[in-house]
Amino acid sequence: MSEIKLYLSHGMGVNSTALMLMLEDFGIKYEAVFVDTGCEHPETYEYLNYLREQGYEITVLKPDVGGFDNLYGYCKHYRIVPGQFTRWCTYKFKIKTLKNYIESPAVMFVGIAYDEKHRAFTKPVKNGVINAYPLVNYRVTREECIKIIKEHGLKIPRKSGCWLCPFAKKEEVRELYLKHRELYEKRKEIERLASERAEREIYLNWKKKTEELAHEDVIDITVFLEG
Ligand code: SF4
Repeated sequence: MSEIKLYLSHGMGVNSTALMLMLEDFGIKYEAVFVDTGCEHPETYEYLNYLREQGYEITVLKPDVGGFDNLYGYCKHYRIVPGQFTRWCTYKFKIKTLKNYIESPAVMFVGIAYDEKHRAFTKPVKNGVINAYPLVNYRVTREECIKIIKEHGLKIPRKSGCWLCPFAKKEEVRELYLKHRELYEKRKEIERLASERAEREIYLNWKKKTEELAHEDVIDITVFLEG
């Protein structure tokens, strides 16, 4: 029987980083794999480099979706927004990329914290792969994940996910507007192209456009100016 390989699906966020440290502490031999959609936040790429500099080995996988290796290029070409309901972007860019790379039989460690356990126990990427959720099994919450990372003397990563994500919260879109204006403009560009193609207003976050989200609940300080 062939040897069972162990993988960690690393998203570069808090949970998978804490899980990586737990696997290291337990002396488990695994391969950490990170799928780069090409639309990760700049801070996520910095964190990937930071972890590598600290000596952690991480395999970076690039998708190939009909010749496109990044989600922005794909959405721009087809004038569509990422998957608001079907999450096609996760399937095409992340899951299929993992599926092509993973050698079965294998166990895939997935970093889902105990307080998000409703997201666990999903279908493995392919036959012969078993998903394992040690953070759920050991009841490790997100707060405890942060503690684990700090105890190992590492910086805390930002929340993982694409800057083009339809599920981005208004605080994240606002952050993009303030820190990475060029990416914010690209979000708006995808909305504009998708709207032109559909001949109706299409928003990335299906209820509000990127511009509205970025400025929602922000007090306009000019109202306090005299005169
Ligand atoms: S983070 Fe958002 S945009 Fe990126 S693949 Fe997942 S659902 Fe799609």
